[in-house]
Amino acid sequence: MDKKLILEKAKQYRDYTAKNLSEIIKIPGFSTTEKERVALLKKMCEEAGMEDVHLDGLGSLLARVGNGKKKLVFDAHIDTVGVGDPSQWKTPPHSGLIKDGLVYGRGASDQLGGAASMITAGRILKEMAYNGDYQVWFSFTVLEEDCDGLCWKYLIEEEKFIPDFAVSTEPTSCRLYRGHRGRMEIQIDIKGVSCHGSAPERGDSAAYKAARAALALEKLNAELQPDDDGFLGKGTIVVSQIKVHGPSQCAVPDQAMLYCDRRLTWGEDDKLAIAQVEDALRKAGVDNFTVHMPEYSQPAYTGKLYKQELYFPTWKIPADHVLVKSGVEAYSELFSKAPVVDKWTFSTNGVAICGRHKIPVIGFGPGDEAQAHAPNEITRIDDLEIAAAFYAALPYMLEKQA
Ligand SMILES: [Zn+2]
Repeated sequence: MDKKLILEKAKQYRDYTAKNLSEIIKIPGFSTTEKERVALLKKMCEEAGMEDVHLDGLGSLLARVGNGKKKLVFDAHIDTVGVGDPSQWKTPPHSGLIKDGLVYGRGASDQLGGAASMITAGRILKEMAYNGDYQVWFSFTVLEEDCDGLCWKYLIEEEKFIPDFAVSTEPTSCRLYRGHRGRMEIQIDIKGVSCHGSAPERGDSAAYKAARAALALEKLNAELQPDDDGFLGKGTIVVSQIKVHGPSQCAVPDQAMLYCDRRLTWGEDDKLAIAQVEDALRKAGVDNFTVHMPEYSQPAYTGKLYKQELYFPTWKIPADHVLVKSGVEAYSELFSKAPVVDKWTFSTNGVAICGRHKIPVIGFGPGDEAQAHAPNEITRIDDLEIAAAFYAALPYMLEKQA
């Protein structure tokens, strides 16, 4: 690995990376409306000299450098969440303003900065005529903010695009991450019996059952245990919505719905979480209920409909895994200090790549997780430069380690 050349080129392309990020931010792209942003990224990948630049069925963009037998992929989701209350933004959310070493706008940290650094890394690898053991792929994926991992479940299961290793470029403040808690959404439907509100004793109120159910879930949340090594921390369950219906406002309601957000630590999965909810409700004396995981079913911008249940499995890889070690080595070699190795609080496409399909993933990205989904989102141009160098170095280091 030519450390000096990689660092020189990342520096030389510092403004190019920042400018690309600014241009990407200027074209809004929310989940299901990424078409124009993807077209811009396609042009950027082609101009950077990448090969095989193409779209998959859901409209995610793929590009490659190198011809090796094994596949290493760098992934950036390129949709963003909405802007929220526009009056809270000091500069317009899609300004892409570059000022004082920062790039401003929705997606600057989550996670268009990662995408911009990937393009620069592709350009660097191309200019260095990388021809090692790996095909280095760059994926710019869609729909992540609505349904994390769906784009990758599709790539792996439908397009049979199966990498050996993956790097998520979601924001890590240039730390090295090796996992995060999983999550799922849970819907509970409860039936009661309606009657006239003047004589509630004739009915069976779905509202009171829903209240008992909610309190039972509060208790369940307190009882959830942390993972054995404490790396990912404790799972959680929270009631996020309660709806109650009946024949009129002068009646005992006969239907209730509770919606829950469940975060899953190591060792917890969908079956366990649903069984816990059923058990908690039964113990609280709630009857006549069903518990299920709803589905995501929004068509992609290409018109393709690919559904999945709202389940996002927990994942982590060991600290001594070859991918983590290669990442640590690449960072240490480039910057003469060891990186912080940690985990994300939020969820990423890793839920499909590693959680469902057991393909090893690490995370390394410019920008801060705390910037995600917040007004006045920014990222540091220093981080963009560091990430571009790290991505260009990793294939060489992996080859040395693996
Ligand atoms: Zn993200």
